[in-house]
Amino acid sequence: MTRTALVCGAGGFIGSHLVTALKAQGFRVRGADLKHPEFGETDADDFILGDLRDQSVVAQVIDQPFDEIYQLAADMGGAGFVFVGQNDADIMHNSAAININVLSACLNTGNRRIFYSSSACIYPQENQQDPDNPNCVEHSAYPANPDSDYGWEKLFSERLYQAFQRNHGFECRIARYHNIFGPLGTWQGGREKAPAALCRKIAMADQDGTIDIWGDGRQTRSFLYVDECVEGTIRLMRSEVVEPVNIGSDELISISDLAVMIAKLAGKRITHRYIDGPEGVRGRVSDNRMIAQRLGWAPAARLQDGLRPTYDWIAAQVADGGGDAA
Ligand code: NAD
Repeated sequence: MTRTALVCGAGGFIGSHLVTALKAQGFRVRGADLKHPEFGETDADDFILGDLRDQSVVAQVIDQPFDEIYQLAADMGGAGFVFVGQNDADIMHNSAAININVLSACLNTGNRRIFYSSSACIYPQENQQDPDNPNCVEHSAYPANPDSDYGWEKLFSERLYQAFQRNHGFECRIARYHNIFGPLGTWQGGREKAPAALCRKIAMADQDGTIDIWGDGRQTRSFLYVDECVEGTIRLMRSEVVEPVNIGSDELISISDLAVMIAKLAGKRITHRYIDGPEGVRGRVSDNRMIAQRLGWAPAARLQDGLRPTYDWIAAQVADGGGDAA
């Protein structure tokens, strides 16, 4: 029997890579999203274009039992989208509506096994003030104090999935993703994240050019290449781990050093100009002890290895169609 999977958010960055991976494993895959993948054809067997805030659309998408359901659809973006304030009502309303609709439709159709993509943004801001020692161990999530409404919605939805698990016999698997990057991700337009934005700025800069960096550049993060994110997602889905778990890299790097690494790959001598901009917390890194212990697997690739194909892909996009230097 062919196994079946549904990917909500299949037109997005991680969702489109996940569809490709599930197809390669022999699944029959349905994708659903507001939009088709931006940078290429979907590999899904069928793709429903629709708004998952609308219950009637979700009833059409979840109209049968699936072996695996992955819920990645969300109204989201990088710091320039989630930390600026103007998008908070949309972020909270739209993503919560999607999650409520998806869970209700699963309840009605006997679907019980579902993966939900939460975020490192749920962690309390006071644990992420020291750029060299951020604390993102899973059990530190409470008492809760995320620094954005995006993080609060993710935390609410984690709890929603867990409540369905407790009260309705669901088997939910919840990942807290930490900064995923790679080819086919948003790289301009305001929703892109730091690695893509820096790749774009450096690709557009002259050989001895200057790029703008938001903040003082000393804020730290870790970045996970999309292939390992997809592998972790599928492993978690098929595991028995019912608590939320980090899926991220534990290689901590400052934003300045990230820009230096990318400039080296590009073979350019780049000067940094530090400007005001949305920065988020001072430090954030994935704590991988739980995933290693519970899955017997943790992301291991080096940042530099994922940056090479990412930079090359973004540089090709810039060469093809311009791009916005800001
Ligand atoms: P993405 O924005 O590329 O993908 C999300 C997709 O959801 C988009 O294609 C979008 O069109 C779709 N969507 C939004 N509203 C919708 C609606 N009303 N109906 C149907 N589709 C809708 O983002 P991504 O980077 O692929 O992230 C996937 C998931 O992982 C998201 O839930 C995100 O919050 C979470 N996450 C991502 C990261 C990261 O670094 N990329 C980090 C933490 C968590």
